Amino acid sequence: MRALISVSDKTGIVELAKELVELGVEIISTGGTYNKLKEEGVAAIEISELTGFPECLDGRVKTLHPVVHAGLLAMRSNPDHMKQINDLEIDTIDMVIVNLYPFKSTIMKEGVTRAEAVENIDIGGPTMLRSAAKNYQDVAVVVDPRDYDKVLSELKTKKEVTLETKFYLMQKVFMHTSNYDTMIADYLKKERQDFELPETLTMTFEKVQDMRYGENPHQKAAFYRQVGKQIGSLVDAVQHNGKELSFNNINDTNGALELLKEFTEPTVVGCKHGNPCGVGSADHIYDAWVKAFNADKMSIFGGIVVSNREITKRMAEEMNEIFLEVIVAPSYEVEALEILKMKKNIRVLELKDIEVPQSSEALDMKKVNGGLIVQSIDSQLYQEEDFKVVTKTQPTQEQLEDMKFGMRVVKFVKSNGIAVVKNKQTVGIGPGQVNRIWATTQCFEHAEELIGKDATRNAVLASDAFFPFDDVVEAAHKAGITAIIQPGGAMRDQLSIDKCDEYGIAMVFTGMRHFKH
Ligand code: 5GP
Repeated sequence: MRALISVSDKTGIVELAKELVELGVEIISTGGTYNKLKEEGVAAIEISELTGFPECLDGRVKTLHPVVHAGLLAMRSNPDHMKQINDLEIDTIDMVIVNLYPFKSTIMKEGVTRAEAVENIDIGGPTMLRSAAKNYQDVAVVVDPRDYDKVLSELKTKKEVTLETKFYLMQKVFMHTSNYDTMIADYLKKERQDFELPETLTMTFEKVQDMRYGENPHQKAAFYRQVGKQIGSLVDAVQHNGKELSFNNINDTNGALELLKEFTEPTVVGCKHGNPCGVGSADHIYDAWVKAFNADKMSIFGGIVVSNREITKRMAEEMNEIFLEVIVAPSYEVEALEILKMKKNIRVLELKDIEVPQSSEALDMKKVNGGLIVQSIDSQLYQEEDFKVVTKTQPTQEQLEDMKFGMRVVKFVKSNGIAVVKNKQTVGIGPGQVNRIWATTQCFEHAEELIGKDATRNAVLASDAFFPFDDVVEAAHKAGITAIIQPGGAMRDQLSIDKCDEYGIAMVFTGMRHFKH
């Protein structure tokens, strides 16, 4: 039996090769691998000896030779194949152990050049893997070091690698080489830096972990990380405490983080089931936390809190008084972490660069039955110069600030979404209703129930999309709202404008809709 070993990641290779030699396997290997084996006293033949041709072009051509590929591709059950290789004086190769040039870790390096990345595109490795995998009935092909033990133990106990295992290994190879090529294609796409929706969509995701279950206990689930550099993404958060994140935790926390990224000043977002339930901004993070908490002391129970500044001891003490599922922040005071760790179940995560938004070139995708709908992410927000005051009453400076705050929040509220804001604090959020007036009235009702009768008095209302009728303005007036911000653009905009003028409400149009379905 002959095995060809050519690996970039040399972990465990010496131990494996030693055992193979003991089992009577002859080893052939390429330059670096050969040297490593020789250093450790493992007998091997250099590839150039087999091919009768030197490795050349800085290793670009090592194993790309008919002696290797005919030795791999000859079907042992086909007499004609066997006669041909016999006439050509080529011996079969029965096992291939290959892992590829480290393209992924190369592109993740700070300041990597295109030339460096391109040089790390493996050519001979994937070719060999594919030859061996195509002839899987006769060749065992090992691309994943985690399979070394499995193969060895079969060789020891059964004197061969079983067909079932060889088929499993083959399938792994094509998965691996297709991911490898996709990584290259993805990298090159980013290098071209033009936003386009490609004819075919390929992306590589690597499993971070299996999850206990999905959205519900009877659904299977896993968490995948997109290959490549991510900044300020939940996939790279460090967990200090608590059980592992669940499917819903990840989905909901991601939503809360996206909202948080709209803010630069100290801000805390409370979130439940993918919708914000309380958001507060202030000069100091503690005050932002108090605002976010006071916004809705009920729904935050079992919810998620994300903060764009360090969590202080005092915040931790107050957070520990309620039941939270997840907390994410860029850092924690030492005592804060100790306090939070007293509750075993609370998931405490540290996320560097928490404030960095997703790249505007990122794609937003939704799986539909049998397909995928893809769009650029909603990275835009109102431009202040596009603000159009459409009413006789002008907004005050404070109202304008709350309008901007409200628009940032409502962008992440499921449509139809309404947010009511006072002094950079949400006092009511109306998410996910099938018509706008329900979102509005629910928002007011909850605000009054949770905060008090005057919760919405003199507050600002923000809407993710235009008002089809003037009923929202009517309800807003009844609740004491004095300023409204919305995209505008409805056929009957004038009805809402007239109604605002009648009640002395200031209204601003942004010209930009933020549906979130
Ligand atoms: P070594 O460290 O043994 O010199 O090289 C091992 C690496 O070379 C492996 O990652 C393998 O996939 C790759 N490799 C093997 N044959 C060829 C070839 O002909 N051309 C290129 N570019 N890479 C090869």
